[in-house]
Amino acid sequence: MLKNSEVRPNLVLENFIGGKFVSCQQHIDSYDPSTGEVYCKVPDSGKEEVDAAVAAAKNAFPQWSACSPQQRADVLNKLADLIEADMEEFVQAESRDQGKTIIFARTVDIPRAAYNFRFFASSVLHHTTDCSLMDHMGCLNYTIRCPVGVAGLISPWNLPLYLLTWKIAPAIATGNTVVAKPSEMTSVTAWMMCKLMQRAGVPPGVVNIVFGTGLKAGDALVGHPDVPLISFTGSTKTAQRITERSAPFCKKLSLELGGKNPAIIFADADLDKCIETTVRSSFSNQGEICLCTSRIYVEKSIYVEFLERFVAATKKWKTGAPSDPSNNNGALISKEHLEKVRSFVAAAKSEGGVIHCGEGVDKLDLPERNKSGFFMPATVITGISDTSSIMQEEIFGPVTCISPFDTEDEAVSRGNGVRYGLAATVWSRDVGRVHRVAQRLQAGLVWTNCWLVRDLNLPFGGMKSSGVGREGGKDSYHFFTEVKSITIKH
Ligand code: NAD
Repeated sequence: MLKNSEVRPNLVLENFIGGKFVSCQQHIDSYDPSTGEVYCKVPDSGKEEVDAAVAAAKNAFPQWSACSPQQRADVLNKLADLIEADMEEFVQAESRDQGKTIIFARTVDIPRAAYNFRFFASSVLHHTTDCSLMDHMGCLNYTIRCPVGVAGLISPWNLPLYLLTWKIAPAIATGNTVVAKPSEMTSVTAWMMCKLMQRAGVPPGVVNIVFGTGLKAGDALVGHPDVPLISFTGSTKTAQRITERSAPFCKKLSLELGGKNPAIIFADADLDKCIETTVRSSFSNQGEICLCTSRIYVEKSIYVEFLERFVAATKKWKTGAPSDPSNNNGALISKEHLEKVRSFVAAAKSEGGVIHCGEGVDKLDLPERNKSGFFMPATVITGISDTSSIMQEEIFGPVTCISPFDTEDEAVSRGNGVRYGLAATVWSRDVGRVHRVAQRLQAGLVWTNCWLVRDLNLPFGGMKSSGVGREGGKDSYHFFTEVKSITIKH
């Protein structure tokens, strides 16, 4: 296991193929976002490495898919045990690699990564399939579900181990073998997890991890003829490319993409709870969660009070060194991303938007070693039209916009007025209204009077440009298996 002292500038990661660590000729620099310094080298894999990983996965498939669900569940639970045993090393590494606070990694990322294995270890034991009788034909029909083969898994940088294990766990629980490619910007915890595979009893070749960029390693995986299924989480733009690239092979695709999530706040909302939760839903993990709120529509009669209280609460949302437990946010993932987020704020300002706090208004007081890190304070903007880019495009940073509305119809129509449809929140004490509005919102997930409460059994995913397909207990089971109808004439 990686100890903290090992996380040094010369840390060089290796691919994990067929149960062995395999070095790569070329590498990419990976940065510590909180200092701006290179601290690790990630394999710059391409077709050759992906071919080797797919061959190893293909080779391991017959034996792994023939194991019983209980045998596979035992391995998943053991892997969860081992991650939990090394919790603090994983926490420190995730924070350093991604820029998030240690507290967030300790309370969200790593516990959930371990839980993903536990959840699917249990879930896979409880599925049933269909059966129908055709007595008049002397036939019994039933369905079975079979693993698909080698699953290609591609994940982003915002919740690195959490989202990677959300794919690996159901894929291997259902009997597939996998080739996974984490984001080239956050590869360390995936590499650390590879060190646990043998002890967990994962047979060589069942889990292969190839590190590298999307354009080389990701593209080689998506274009590989022996990978019939791709589960991808990332941007809508990359998903378009993956869809085109995989179309000639008719691959099974699950696409979990970006969002531009509205919060709709009615005058009868419990404002104390609503403001506390909406600050959290806007800025958690530096706003780098696909489910973060970035458009807040507030009923006009409470708009002034809401704005004043929301800005005051945001000013208390502290940004700084990820290791400082008093900070709510750490650093953004990269210099390029920080510049992109800042450019949205600059564009809003040039269009007449009012910046109430954050970027350009509040100066961060950073420790000396963090002065070159990629930090940005939580930012609240008003006075912006729904058609402006900051109200239409995913920002994926600590920025949220607030705007008043008059009627329920108007709120729903403006909430739906973007190309995305991932998540939404609705705040009201009127049960009829929350139900009505939730039903009309174009979003795969609607939280009313709360945010990010997740039952992993429920379908997760978006509509419109936010995705294709759903993941979660039964949905992941269906995605990672093929159904077969069998008719027995007796
Ligand atoms: P991204 O699309 O740039 O990259 C995601 C992954 O795809 C990375 O591993 C990358 O290397 C790889 N990739 C890039 N180009 C590729 C290609 N041509 N072929 C194959 N793979 C390729 O996204 P990102 O910047 O890493 O992540 C942020 C995005 O992810 C945001 O849009 C966010 O909303 C989205 N996201 C969605 C969810 C969800 O569940 N809906 C969750 C987290 C993040």
